[in-house]
Amino acid sequence: MKKRVLALLMAVVMTLQLSGCNAKNIDAAGKEAQSSIKDMFHSAKENQKEAPAENTDEQDTGIQDEDAEIRYQDDYYEYVNQNLLSRIELAATDAHWDWFGELNAVVNAEMEDIIDDLANDGNTYEKGSSEQKIKDMYECVTNMANREETGLGPLKTHMDSIRNATSIEEYVDALAHLSGEFGFSSIVGGYSIMQDKADSSEYAVYMMYADTLIGKEYVEGENTQEYMELYLNYISNMLMEFGMTADEAAQSTDSIEWLLRDICASTLTTEQLYDPSQTYNVYTAEGLQELYSNVDVPKMLRTLRVDGQDKYIVMDVEQAKKINSLLVEENLQALKDYSTFVMLNDTAKYANANYAKLSDDMRNALYGITESWGDEKTWKNLTQDMLPWDFGMIYVERHFSAEDKEAVEEIIEQILKEYETIINRQDWMSEATKKKAIRKLETMQVKIGYPDRWPAARDMMQVTPISEGGSLLSNLLVSMQVAIEDSLNKLGTKVDRSEWDVTPQTINAMYDPLNNEIIFPAAILQAPFYDRDNSYGANLGGIGFVIAHEVSHAFDSSGALYDEYGNYNVWWTDEELAEYKKMSQSIVDYYSNYEMMGVKVNGELTLMENIADLGAMTCITSIIGNDARALDEAFGQMTYNWASEDTASFMMYLLNTDTHSPNKVRVNAVLSSCDAFYKIYDIRETDGMYVAPEDRVGIWK
Ligand SMILES: [Zn+2]
Repeated sequence: MKKRVLALLMAVVMTLQLSGCNAKNIDAAGKEAQSSIKDMFHSAKENQKEAPAENTDEQDTGIQDEDAEIRYQDDYYEYVNQNLLSRIELAATDAHWDWFGELNAVVNAEMEDIIDDLANDGNTYEKGSSEQKIKDMYECVTNMANREETGLGPLKTHMDSIRNATSIEEYVDALAHLSGEFGFSSIVGGYSIMQDKADSSEYAVYMMYADTLIGKEYVEGENTQEYMELYLNYISNMLMEFGMTADEAAQSTDSIEWLLRDICASTLTTEQLYDPSQTYNVYTAEGLQELYSNVDVPKMLRTLRVDGQDKYIVMDVEQAKKINSLLVEENLQALKDYSTFVMLNDTAKYANANYAKLSDDMRNALYGITESWGDEKTWKNLTQDMLPWDFGMIYVERHFSAEDKEAVEEIIEQILKEYETIINRQDWMSEATKKKAIRKLETMQVKIGYPDRWPAARDMMQVTPISEGGSLLSNLLVSMQVAIEDSLNKLGTKVDRSEWDVTPQTINAMYDPLNNEIIFPAAILQAPFYDRDNSYGANLGGIGFVIAHEVSHAFDSSGALYDEYGNYNVWWTDEELAEYKKMSQSIVDYYSNYEMMGVKVNGELTLMENIADLGAMTCITSIIGNDARALDEAFGQMTYNWASEDTASFMMYLLNTDTHSPNKVRVNAVLSSCDAFYKIYDIRETDGMYVAPEDRVGIWK
């Protein structure tokens, strides 16, 4: 469950994303395997029902006899998921398996069918229709001869503007043109137009930070230096592909590494990026000029087409100061190399086969994947990435159920009401603050399924076929231009809160603090998250837990700082904030005791998500009350839904960068802090799941 705003911000920072970690291993036999897995799950749950709390007399003999077996009292996650996970063998092409990936693979297969139909039907479609765009884009993606011939063609002049810069002034000017026209950002000049945190009905210009490539966590991590080595090797290979000799590439890589480490040392951590008190720094154009004293700021803002604004928001002031100090003539060559590599890296998978392969190999090495997808799957994924809304429209036509939407709306209603009850029973909150919190619940916008109106960017994006001189790279540049034009069109207008920026085929759910809204795309409304044939308890543990988690984000350590309008506006008293911080610190300490692969969970990085998980479980169990069977079903379903398998490298990636705790920890840590869990199961002090009542954590009791 991602928070949308940060996902947007992070897109700039993280060049390697989770996309593509699909579980192809049970793809082919998917449906069949899934049903037998579910049967095994139910039998596992039957076992577990043999030992409810009220039968304590039989406990000692019943459970202990299973000697080497996993006991639910020690490790509930492993107990519930052992049968499922014993069936999951990560394919060589996969780094990760979970239900999100599994459903993603199903959606992908459906999208692939659409592509196949269009590619083979011999028809010509009306210019601008989704069918025409998909068909012609797929041709651009798959025609490797055309990609070879194109090379870096459409990028060449832009690359040259960086390579040929003879002064810092020319270099900054080249970057500003690349950012203003396409949105490329490497060192300086990157910006983003997003809702103004202080007044979320308006848009504002956020001056973005530098591209930190593999990311601060990897650059500085104790356990990640071997991956850093791989990455440096990748940089060097890319530069050689670009035409440098081995010696030149080695030298350039050294300078890039030096810049990267220097920039990262002055960059906010991921968890700090969620804190508006650190990232919302308002500057005037004059103030910006003082901050970037080595840049002609008025000229840069004109080139970016964002001059004349009353305010500019600098997201990472220390990093901006560092960047400014680096913008001196003696660093010119290193800076040019850095920006050259960023552009190559950003466009590699759309370029010719050699670049695409280097990029693919790097991603595989970072995640511990030993085999590539192969051309066809890669091509089809790329085609989807290029036209997300066109695929979204077709997806909704084919797969969306209005009946399921209504059922889920009812669960959302119930959850929002329960939160009201929970807030009202908090003795650490004043009546005035409770009122504000409840107001935030009452005004929360709910988006389910797909948008009423498709985003303007969908129509703006047109695909030029090869027959008319188009190529994959030229169409990529068009899509980047469309994104820039679309956001510039919005600047100066009122925010339209009905707009969606998540596609309906996304298997995820979000809370957006700037709109005070929860979003459930069409594709998440399916089993195992929601299943109309499931019991009440199971659906509460399934989609109910997901919904309650998103609602909790409205009051997590970051979300709580925004009011019901989505404005950054602290509405808590000082005493309440102090109490909140105290509880948060206990949550940080609690999760920091859990570990995976011998590495401790980062309690600070994962705080917001852990608060959301703990709050969600309080809400769900509070709705269910004393119904032991429904509680058991909810715990079981929630645990089942978070089952996952990872390569060691991917787990390392998650531990360093993911704001969620690893799935096993998400389940066990939450249940061990949940009083209702102890009520229905016989958990004793000597058991692995046991946490003393005074050590159990959570903001909402
Ligand atoms: Zn979340």
